[in-house]
Amino acid sequence: MKAEDRGQMTICFTTPAILLRRVDYGDNDLILTFFSQTRGKISLIAKSARKSRKRFCGALDLFSVFDLVCSSGRGRLPVLQETSIKHPFCRIRSDFKKTAYACYFVEIINNWMEPDVSQPRVFDLLYQVLDRLDRNDLPDELLSIVFQMTLMIISGFSPNFSTCCHCHADMGCLNMCRIGINFAKGGLVCSACNAAVSPMITLSRGTIKQLQWMGCGNWNKIARARFSDQSIQESLGFLEAFVPYHLGKEPKSLSVLRQFRNEQNNRKVISSCPKSI
Ligand SMILES: [Zn+2]
Repeated sequence: MKAEDRGQMTICFTTPAILLRRVDYGDNDLILTFFSQTRGKISLIAKSARKSRKRFCGALDLFSVFDLVCSSGRGRLPVLQETSIKHPFCRIRSDFKKTAYACYFVEIINNWMEPDVSQPRVFDLLYQVLDRLDRNDLPDELLSIVFQMTLMIISGFSPNFSTCCHCHADMGCLNMCRIGINFAKGGLVCSACNAAVSPMITLSRGTIKQLQWMGCGNWNKIARARFSDQSIQESLGFLEAFVPYHLGKEPKSLSVLRQFRNEQNNRKVISSCPKSI
């Protein structure tokens, strides 16, 4: 942008931000929803963004991180004036599974967050998880568990894994291999309370311990921990039901993710079958 143009423009704000959603508007414009570090979820209009890729220094791709410069516009939405890309997450984009997980993460944030409410811990969580997904720092499934568990804790929807949600018995004192969870009550159900409060899912004791670890917020601890495949699958099954339950709807990207994992599992089964002669 030329200096004289900048002089005539009212700079509203500048902020790092992750692109959550893009929608075509009119012939040439885009409505973009970002999750910003300083202002939480914000929607902006990017004028002529579809007419010229040069206008915003290249692609405005989902879940990329940008530095934004915005101004107050005549319309309802602030106007995006400049972008510089901080992180394009190229490795995520070259891998279908990583892309599916990243789309799931940004869809949850877009649906969960109130507009214009600063949430620096959630911004940091989303940035960290996308960055580690891009660097292949931890398995994709583990990152998804950490993301969902930590988001639930920050948002005040952390499942209660300590006591029965009905009679408040200490779960540490109960001798049960598998423990039920009621989503509406937000916690565990002991065997004595099964008739009064129906569990919607059951988890093994080991999986419950793993979920508590995953939400600890300490990446070094998470990286050192070793979890069984069964625990990871159980944790994903639980969180991909628990999070949409509290969100009030199922993210569209979740069905894509599930379909991809099912196809991957089927391929594994076929490749492990002995070939007929
Ligand atoms: Zn109970």
